[in-house]
Amino acid sequence: MDFEFLAIDYRNPAFSVAMLLITIAAISLIDYFLNAARMRRQDKNVERFLTRFSALQNKQYRDLAALGLPPESLIFMAQTAYKSGEFSEAIHIYLAILETTTEAAKKVEIMNALGAAYHKAGFYKRSGDILLESLRLKARNKGALELLLRIYETTREYDLAIEVLESLEELEGAADSRFKEKALLRAGSLIRNRALSDQKREEELLELYAKSPDLFRLILEYFLAKNPEKAWELINPDRLDEALDIFWRINVNIFNAEIAKKYDILFELFSAKGYFAKGEEKSCAKIFEFDILIKLKEYRNSADLEFSYRCPACHASFPAHFYRCPACKSALFAKVETTLVKNEATKDELERNDYEVGANFY
Ligand SMILES: [Zn+2]
Repeated sequence: MDFEFLAIDYRNPAFSVAMLLITIAAISLIDYFLNAARMRRQDKNVERFLTRFSALQNKQYRDLAALGLPPESLIFMAQTAYKSGEFSEAIHIYLAILETTTEAAKKVEIMNALGAAYHKAGFYKRSGDILLESLRLKARNKGALELLLRIYETTREYDLAIEVLESLEELEGAADSRFKEKALLRAGSLIRNRALSDQKREEELLELYAKSPDLFRLILEYFLAKNPEKAWELINPDRLDEALDIFWRINVNIFNAEIAKKYDILFELFSAKGYFAKGEEKSCAKIFEFDILIKLKEYRNSADLEFSYRCPACHASFPAHFYRCPACKSALFAKVETTLVKNEATKDELERNDYEVGANFY
C-alpha cells in the first residue's frame, strides 16, 4: 500500500505555519482561563476605543465603501491617516474596506495593514488576532510574521515568538539564521517561566549562555539582580564594553574589588566611580571619560557619565538600551556610548543608586 500521500514536507513554510497555528491554538486553550479576566478588560478597552469615534464618522466610511468608490482611494485615505499618526482613523477605514473586499489576496493585504494600525495604536491582542487570520489565508506572509514576532516580544509571550521566528527562518530558507534573536527569546522565556525554581532557571540560563556568548549583557543583568556573586564569575573580558552602563550603575554593596581589578576597563571604571578604597584606585585611565572623572575626584560628584545606545545597523541613537532597534527593527546588540555630563543628582539620589534589572526586556 502506498502511504506517500501521508508524507509531509517538514521544510515547507506552509507546514511550519500550520504547526504554529496549532501550537498557538493549544497554548491559547490552556491560557484561556488564566487570562479570561485580563482579556475581558482588554476587550473592553478596545470597545471603548472603537466607540470613541462618532457614529457619523463610522457611517461616512461605511457609506464610502458602499458607494463602490475604487478601493484604491480608500486605501490611500487609510495610508495617509496611518502615516500622519491617526491610527484609529486608519483602523476604521481598513475595517470598512474589509467589509466589501472579497478577493483573498486583497483581504490579506488589508488585514496586514489593519494589523499594523492596531499594533501602532497599542492594541496588541487585536493586532495579533488579525495577523493570525491573515496567515490562515496566506501562510507565506513574511510581513505578517515579522509583525507578529514583534507583538509577541512586546507582550513577552516568548514561546510564541520563538515559533514565529522559526517559521520566518523556514520561509527565508535559512535555518538558524536568526540564532542571536532566538537565544534572546529563549532567555526571556526562561526568565518568565514561573514553573522553574530559581536554581533550575539559573542552570538553564547558564547552559544557554555557554552556547550563546552573545547573551553576556542579559545574563550579567540577571545574575547581578539575583545572584551577584555568581555574576562576577561570569565576566567575559571581550564583551565588557557592551555592559559599561550596567557596571556604572551597580550598587556599591555588590561591588567586587578583587575581580574588578583584574580587568583594565573595570579597574578604570570603578576608579572613576570612586568604589575602591583609598589608595587602591587608579590615578589615570586610558578611556578619556574615566580619566577626567578620576582627575575630578577632589571636586567630588561634580561630573557623571550619561549613556546612549547606538544601533549598529542604522546608527540611530537612543537614550534607553534595546535588544531590537526601535528605528530599523533589527534585533542586534546596541553599542553603548558614554558622555561626560555635569552631575545634577542630589546626595539622596546618589545614595539611592540601586541597579534595576532588565526593565526593558522582561
Ligand atoms: Zn537600527
